[in-house]
Amino acid sequence: MLAVNKMQIAIDGPAGSGKSTAARRVAQALGYAHIDTGVLYRAVALIALRQEVDFKDNKTLAILAELPDLEVKLKSNGSPVYFIAGEDVSAELRSPDVNRKVSQVAKIPAVRSKVTHKLKDLGRQGGIVMDGRDIGTVVLPAADVKIFLTADLATRVARRQQELSNKGFSLSVSAVENEMLQRDREDSGRQIAPLKPAPDAYILDTSDLTAEEVVQKIISLVKQREQKYKT
Ligand code: C5P
Repeated sequence: MLAVNKMQIAIDGPAGSGKSTAARRVAQALGYAHIDTGVLYRAVALIALRQEVDFKDNKTLAILAELPDLEVKLKSNGSPVYFIAGEDVSAELRSPDVNRKVSQVAKIPAVRSKVTHKLKDLGRQGGIVMDGRDIGTVVLPAADVKIFLTADLATRVARRQQELSNKGFSLSVSAVENEMLQRDREDSGRQIAPLKPAPDAYILDTSDLTAEEVVQKIISLVKQREQKYKT
């Protein structure tokens, strides 16, 4: 049995469902590490855009997916800053260009296998919260707690628009909505590790919940699991 402070917590869901914020805060509250797994796919897409790699060139994209130059540092408030080869790319990882391209990169089997391998290694010791699309199904299939977050489209679009505006990008509601629907379609429809809840995931609709309420609900599920392990 795992030590209770060494659990693996998997949080999956579509864009704008509130995964990353919830995962970061839950990790902080539990003293766990947090990995926002979408960042790895975003980093591959960003490097490919910058190097003008053909998005059909699977071989080159798989090499980029080794991501030797990606680093993360935490600010004093716990929020992450991402660097590629020493350059802070945190805002650019969330740019509309990357949003448009990332699902194309994420559906390439050789890219997924490199990223998945890295994530499995990072998760092995436990004491971790990972958020993404396939964490409960593929990356950490034996996770102690699995959550699948959902929210209605209007809520997800509003959240994403706010996030983009915080990063200095201004897009219309319809542009954000189209990009989001397209990405959902690609992520749910791909052959390998599609976006879907694990059979044993707890499904939580966050449309009418504040970020804090989502965090408290997840922590209560973690505590229930801890109790089960203790008895
Ligand atoms: O979570 P985020 O929106 O940053 O993820 C960006 C993209 O990365 C997703 O749309 C998806 O294509 C891909 N992704 C994935 N598997 C994960 C995490 C993200 O395919 N575990």
